[in-house]
Amino acid sequence: MLEVNSIRCYYCGACASVCPLNLIDVLDEAIKVREGCTDCGLCENTCPVGAIKIAEE
Ligand code: SF4
Ligand code: SF4
Repeated sequence: MLEVNSIRCYYCGACASVCPLNLIDVLDEAIKVREGCTDCGLCENTCPVGAIKIAEE
């Protein structure tokens, strides 16, 4: 499960670009993650401001 820090996030789209399953949609002021995330960590590692994290269930 992913958590997005909406204060840090500036909606650059880097996380969406890197997801191998194309599960992330970056909207104007929100990030949506569709079902099927494998917690691979690529989006977390790519975010320049540490705004997206894999959270413990
Ligand atoms: S990479 Fe980080 S700052 Fe950019 S849209 Fe994703 S969560 Fe937000
Ligand atoms: S953890 Fe991996 S599969 Fe899940 S949204 Fe991020 S890049 Fe996509």
